[in-house]
Amino acid sequence: MGARGARNWRPITLAGALIVTFVILLVIGMRDPDATEPQPVAAATPGDWMRKITPGERPPQFVLFSYDGAGSHEQWQRLLDLAAKSDARFTAFLSGVYLLADDQRKQYTAPGHPQGQSSISFGGSLDQVRTRINDLNTAMQRGIEIGTHYNGHYCSPKWTTQQWQTELHQFVQFVGQAGVQGLKLDPAAIKGSRLPCLEGKFDAVFDAMRSRGLTYDSSQVSDGVLWPVKEKDIWEFAMPMVRMPAAGNKKVTMVDYQLWEALNRSKDDKSKRDEFARATLEVYRAAHDATMRGNRAPLPIGNHFTDWAGGGFGAAAEQFMAEVCTKPETVCTTFSEVIKWMELQDPAVLDQLRRLPAAQT
Ligand SMILES: [Zn+2]
Repeated sequence: MGARGARNWRPITLAGALIVTFVILLVIGMRDPDATEPQPVAAATPGDWMRKITPGERPPQFVLFSYDGAGSHEQWQRLLDLAAKSDARFTAFLSGVYLLADDQRKQYTAPGHPQGQSSISFGGSLDQVRTRINDLNTAMQRGIEIGTHYNGHYCSPKWTTQQWQTELHQFVQFVGQAGVQGLKLDPAAIKGSRLPCLEGKFDAVFDAMRSRGLTYDSSQVSDGVLWPVKEKDIWEFAMPMVRMPAAGNKKVTMVDYQLWEALNRSKDDKSKRDEFARATLEVYRAAHDATMRGNRAPLPIGNHFTDWAGGGFGAAAEQFMAEVCTKPETVCTTFSEVIKWMELQDPAVLDQLRRLPAAQT
């Protein structure tokens, strides 16, 4: 990578460098010191990592922070600030019912359930929905990707392809409808899926996803961290099972509620906040070390916008984002950007990476 950088700079003469310096100073001087508008972060445009790697070169260490639900205003504010400071992009898997105000609940009918029901709450007041739409718009301006966490968060649905299509169709409808209230999300830009509770019949889900133009999913589980594979034309970024020292070194799927289940059977004990945050951070750091030194597979970090155990899991993910995203060779980005990167690579190189042993902790 160093040699490549040197080659790019060679043609620049001293005079050229002076002109560049002058222009930079001019631009800095012209910036309005009172401007409070947040400046776009550097990570909003793909860095120089978006290229084909040379033979023998190690891939960047991608870290894929993802947040399911994506409804809470308070969490959006905290995360957007943090992502800007940490040079990070991430993916939010939105629950579609959060775009419906409570009195619009009748617009949703989950397959096999009565009209107007959901296993999570609807979007609250019209004002709350409007605030959420603003948050989503700000997020997208900062390069954050929006995928689907479907609508009513039904765990282990035994839905058929057609039923999943109905569920996805309604999600797209809610997004389209929110456009009237100002949401700037083109339904066709929704490419990714995270299944509620990571559960469903994948054959049926994938057929439904493909029919609606989705290209990736992150809901399966892998033993250790592995490179994504394409199944039925859908890229699958599996959530890894890793060891959790604070839970007797048990192997746990690295998503917030599974870690919580392993730590105290998901009992909501707020006094455990810091202890659980430390335990979770330990898991994240070990997984990052393992991929960095091992197969360099993209590392997915799965969380919800929740305050389980006093917010310990969210705190761990935030601390990890702050410390990992600015590390050399680490790139915190979105699933779609990693797909773009993979599609730039020589297929033989990707195959070779896939053949490397899973990164284990
Ligand atoms: Zn969920």
